[in-house]
Amino acid sequence: MTDCIFCRIASGEIPATVVARNKDAVAFRDLNPQAPTHVLVIPVKHYNSLIDTDSDEGAATVAKTVRLAVQVAKQLGLEDGGYRLVLNTGRDGGQSVFHVHLHLLAGRRLAWPPG
Ligand code: AMP
Repeated sequence: MTDCIFCRIASGEIPATVVARNKDAVAFRDLNPQAPTHVLVIPVKHYNSLIDTDSDEGAATVAKTVRLAVQVAKQLGLEDGGYRLVLNTGRDGGQSVFHVHLHLLAGRRLAWPPG
């Protein structure tokens, strides 16, 4: 049994509000939403952070994860208003869960630059 919470969500061992999944990636609602729509999109395969994805397999995994995020945005009707994908990486990047994940944020005007 892994102690990675997102691996456990991907395997179904821990419940989550899943909005989409395929064999490579899973999208589920963030427990602590920062926008009206806040979905996390994770690869099924575990990578601690983006830093570990500099390989052909890692790059393909990231691309498939982004693709599911694009499909979820379409499924949730976010294309008109737009959305933001965020991939926090490492301590200074604000990463708190060490399994690569994209934040899909939408539903309000998002400030730039981020805090
Ligand atoms: P980050 O700070 O970029 O690593 O983002 C981690 C995100 O995971 C945060 O937005 C948390 O609210 C979210 N999170 C942590 N545990 C869970 C969970 N069990 N289900 C859904 N979202 C979670």
